[in-house]
Parts: sequence; structure tokens; C-alpha cells
Amino acid sequence: MNIGRGVVTSIIQELIGEGTIYEGATGHAARGRRPTMLYVRTQDRLVVAVDIRFSRTFIMLSDFAGTQIALESFDTNFAPDLLVAELGERINRLLASHGARGRCEGVGVVVPGMVERMSGRILSAPQLGWRDVDIRSALADEIELPVSIENAPLACALAQMWLGQRGNSSDNFVYVTVSDGVGAGIVLNGQLIRGASDSAGEFGHNPIDRNGPQCLCGAHGCWEAYTSNQATLSRYLGRELTPMWGQSTRQAVPLTIEDLISRARGGDVRAAGAIEATGHYLGVGIAGIVNALNPSQVFLGGEITGAWDMIESAVREGILERALTRAAAATPVVPEQMGGYPRLRGATALVAAPHFAAPRVA
Ligand SMILES: [Zn+2]
Repeated sequence: MNIGRGVVTSIIQELIGEGTIYEGATGHAARGRRPTMLYVRTQDRLVVAVDIRFSRTFIMLSDFAGTQIALESFDTNFAPDLLVAELGERINRLLASHGARGRCEGVGVVVPGMVERMSGRILSAPQLGWRDVDIRSALADEIELPVSIENAPLACALAQMWLGQRGNSSDNFVYVTVSDGVGAGIVLNGQLIRGASDSAGEFGHNPIDRNGPQCLCGAHGCWEAYTSNQATLSRYLGRELTPMWGQSTRQAVPLTIEDLISRARGGDVRAAGAIEATGHYLGVGIAGIVNALNPSQVFLGGEITGAWDMIESAVREGILERALTRAAAATPVVPEQMGGYPRLRGATALVAAPHFAAPRVA
């Protein structure tokens, strides 16, 4: 930050005064004065995180550190005004039932689409059929709290940058999220890459084979149409993935990717095959990202990481098949821990992290 010791001391005093940070135990020092450890106060500062997906929408109440207090989900309504009304009602009820209204500092929303940074408008969300949709202001009116909205993979990349475990992050990485869709958040030289008009990172719609399965975006053979949870389920069910299929059967086929992983673990060979094929295609697509951007590592988030032991070698083979240099082929792929909610963590970070982040990434 290029500021002197005296300025740091007065900033620290100010932050302690306003309760943003607090002093903890005295640390160990080889010589000189023992340092006093400082901690960011995360308890009692709450966030509502919302993850809007094609199949379901998730709402989580958590503290600033991302510790889950409550979690609920419901079928996503594709009509923006109805979705906003339902979200408003549920968030208000959630805050009231946890006595959290006064302690909640905002709502972070992640969506499966491209978001215009300045306005918060959703430019395009192919799975939802949304183009140029604004839900931020309507939702903020419903719940009377500030609302931040962001593309889900970008939010995951931001959370990785801000809240990632120390030593597990870097200045050059790509965060790939695999859920009902597939997308990527790109961080190069410590900067999140948004592109000229906020639509960078849509690797999910890179073509693998133009004669391939239809994607929810309407085109054929997108990377997402081979690797999303929907794609993996449709491969297992032997049914073509079409936007129509996706919409009409998301309730009719009560099978989730988690169910499929359990079936595979229980000895269902076809389930294991469907999952492994997804692993291979993930590797092929990651090789394309690695060739294009040369990140030092690729983070992978989504339910499929629950089957990491079953897909890791297929992912690596897919990368090896297409990577152009030996170093690129060896790029580490780091799966998110099972049981976490990386997209909800990303939504939480939208509210919590700007309080602490350096201006260049805020
Ligand atoms: Zn597509």
C-alpha cells in the first residue's frame, strides 16, 4: 500500500473503533515486541446469498466468513417478475425468522448469465431465456437491502481471490463452474477479466462438435452440452438434451447429479460411464482454456467434484490429449471441496469482500 507505519496504526485504530476488526492473542516473535494478532469481525455481520440456476434457486443466510446459518431452495420460475416476488417473500421471511434483519448487510445474487457491471442488468442468460433483464432494483425494493448481482463463475473467481485459503490462490487462474451450465471466471495478473462488454469467460458455449448434442443455448455441440449436470444426466438417461427437454422434464425426472454419483458408487456401470465421459470432456475443454490463457491452475467447482476420484484420470487424459506444451498439460486442476457451495460462497463474497478487498479488485 506504500504507506508508513504511523498511518497503518491510525487506520487500525479506526477499524477497531468501528468494530470491523478486533485484537486477539499476542503472537510469537523471534526478537523485539510480540505482535498483537488482528482479526476481521465476521460474526454478527450477515449476508443473504442467492444462486439462481436453471433447475433450482438456492438461498443461504450466512455470516461474512461464509458460515451457513440457513439454506433453502425452490424450483426456479423463469418469469423474472414472479421469481423476484418469490425471492423477496422468502428472503424477508428468512431474515425475520432468524432475527437477522438488522444485522444483514446485503444480498448477493449469482446468475447463469452475463451481467453488465455498471447497471447490474443481466445481458443474456441462455438457459433461462433472459436477455437484457433487470432484477436487481425490483429485488432491492422488495427486501429493502442493497443487492449485488454477478455472473456465477465470475463471483466464484472473485471469492477464490478474496476468500480462498492462503497459499491456494494465485494471480493467474481460471475458475470453472459446472452446474446446470458451465462457465469460467478468468483472473490474469490479479485482475478479473470481464472483456469489453462484460461477456468474457463463456467457454461453456465453445463448440466441441457442431454435430453434437443440442445445448440449452440452442446451438449444437457446446462444451456445456457435454459437461453440465444436465448433459451428464441426459447421457445416462439416453435422452437428447434440448431446451424443451430441460424445461419440461426438470420436475418429471427427479434425478440429480448427486443421485447419479451415488448410483455409480453403488455399482451402476452406466452411471459411472456417464460421469467418466463428462470427466473426459471436461479435460478436453480445460485443455482449450489452458492453451488460450496459460493459467497457473484451474479450480473446478460444482457437484461433479463429489465424483473427483472417479473422474480425475479422465480429466487428466482429456487435458493431455489437447494441451500444446508439456507445462500446459501439467496445469494443476484443483477441485472444490465436497459439501461446499462454491456459487453461494461467491454470492456471499459479493457483499462481504468489498469491505476488505484492495481497490483494484473491488
Ligand atoms: Zn451453448
